[in-house]
Amino acid sequence: MTYCLKCGQPMIPVTDGEDQTQRLGCPDKTCGYVFYDNPIPVVAAIVEKDGEIILARNAAWPQGMFALVTGFLEKGETPMDGVLREVHEELGLEPLSAEFIGYYSFFAMNQLILAYHVMAQGQVTLNHEIAEIKYLKPEKLKPWPFGTGLAVRDFLEKKVYGTG
Ligand SMILES: [Zn+2]
Repeated sequence: MTYCLKCGQPMIPVTDGEDQTQRLGCPDKTCGYVFYDNPIPVVAAIVEKDGEIILARNAAWPQGMFALVTGFLEKGETPMDGVLREVHEELGLEPLSAEFIGYYSFFAMNQLILAYHVMAQGQVTLNHEIAEIKYLKPEKLKPWPFGTGLAVRDFLEKKVYGTG
């Protein structure tokens, strides 16, 4: 954020509140805009179809990099509705159910991930955001140690090993 969202002046470092946290703010005291840079909620889906998990490679990602289907919420949308919509939009599948797995702070991306296990059926039709997908048996899934990978870890503990 370079310019004030309210009045357009270049933002400067300001200290804000009792804890004197460093933030970016408007130099104009009468404007008073402060950019809080709060974490953004992101819904993520471990999509299961016919007993296999679907991982997706985003069109912006390098070859070989697969992760969960994710997306931002629309205004007025619950996380549950959002994750069902994303599975439909990005994979073209018909989502049948969504079970909450957990929430995960992804500090590097300033995101709060809300992860669901989504059962789905139908024919896969990728939208422009997804370059390719791969199917894996749950026992072949290997969690990655950040972001949505932590949801995969918890999902596997629950589903494959039955310890959840
Ligand atoms: Zn301003």
